[in-house]
Amino acid sequence: MEKVAIVGCGSYMDRGYGCPGEWRCLKAAALGEGQITEPSQVTAFVRCECPGRTLVPNVGMAMKLSEIKPDMIYLSTCLANAKPGCPYTEAKDMAKILEDKTGIKVVLGTHDYH
Ligand code: SF4
Repeated sequence: MEKVAIVGCGSYMDRGYGCPGEWRCLKAAALGEGQITEPSQVTAFVRCECPGRTLVPNVGMAMKLSEIKPDMIYLSTCLANAKPGCPYTEAKDMAKILEDKTGIKVVLGTHDYH
């Protein structure tokens, strides 16, 4: 079973009403649906916080404290597909930064639920 870390958009989690932190990413991981193609263990769920500069160190700290290195990191659907998008960094650039810093593959989006 794959171990996965998920990154959510903290701005949306705070201000939207669809994400209390949230069941859809966790459902996709549990069932292996959407972009998470097999049932997976969620070993970290990290909130991005505007303007996003704390994301890489917070993902690193989550891995350090859990002592679990995930096989994949997913940027949540609310982050990766946001319309309007993040005003600070495009999701694909955020993914590249995370990949370069952690050496772990980063996937854009978690689920396709509505
Ligand atoms: S920096 Fe962008 S992705 Fe991160 S919390 Fe703010 S709006 Fe969301």
